[in-house]
Amino acid sequence: MASSTKISSKHTLPDQVQRFLFDNTAVRGELVQLHQSYQEVLIRHNYPPAIEKLLGELLAAVALLTATVKLEGTLTLEARGQGEVSLLMAECNTGAQGGDQLRAIARYQGEPTGQTLAELLNGGQLVITLDPYEGQRYQGIVALDQDTLMACLEGYFASSEQLPTKLWLAADSKSAGGLLLQKLPEDARNKDSDAWIRLGHLAATLTNEELLHLEQNELLHRLFHEETLRTFEPHTLKFGCTCSRERIANALASLGEEELKEALKDKGELATQCHFCNTHYVFTKDDLPELLNEKTIETQTSPRLH
Ligand SMILES: [Zn+2]
Repeated sequence: MASSTKISSKHTLPDQVQRFLFDNTAVRGELVQLHQSYQEVLIRHNYPPAIEKLLGELLAAVALLTATVKLEGTLTLEARGQGEVSLLMAECNTGAQGGDQLRAIARYQGEPTGQTLAELLNGGQLVITLDPYEGQRYQGIVALDQDTLMACLEGYFASSEQLPTKLWLAADSKSAGGLLLQKLPEDARNKDSDAWIRLGHLAATLTNEELLHLEQNELLHRLFHEETLRTFEPHTLKFGCTCSRERIANALASLGEEELKEALKDKGELATQCHFCNTHYVFTKDDLPELLNEKTIETQTSPRLH
């Protein structure tokens, strides 16, 4: 049996997000580790290592934020840059069977030479979109003017009148991970006014290796064993794509009847591929009624953009 402090070299750890809080303080946290779901993103594309790492950090961040705001819906982080990398996007969709679904994609030119967020994106902005199943869509924007994604996101929390938040993100070629601490409004139950500073110092001793490869309870114990930590049931995460034949049909339908007929007459079929999961979708002239019908349904019942 492995020693309890051993860092796992095999990736049998679960993909999950773990909520926790500290008794008698106004501090809560979330810890996420992604192994299989992150690999599922990477095997579909041949990204250079620096882009893999950034995409892993973005995936960990999207999972942390979704859990932190307890969103029921879709949370998207979309970084658009002016450098070698033009787009990094990660999305978390809640409510799917067997765990929340994660997916991500990067767009870049040539063989990137940069390593950091600042070098690869060269400015630009990060758009945070919360699209709940019920209620209003929310969008926040933060400039990508820091060296790391962590620093940009902390800047966002600091500048947008959110709760004070500290964030740690890491990724290598196997796993992605993140830790978030958040300071809740003070109330009478908080008898420990130094907790925010103290817990932040403890969390800052975390190494990337621990964040990525240490079993979650062991990790929390290592950091906070002198604190009264309360953990909740972990939440499972998995790779998953929200594309469907209906959604693709709907996108094609927006071309209009004439253009669709013309394209089908020329090529005999319309083939397209989902950029996130590589699923192929093929429509022939027999599918034309389906395509045209999709347009009608969509405009009648769903005014939202996807
Ligand atoms: Zn897809």
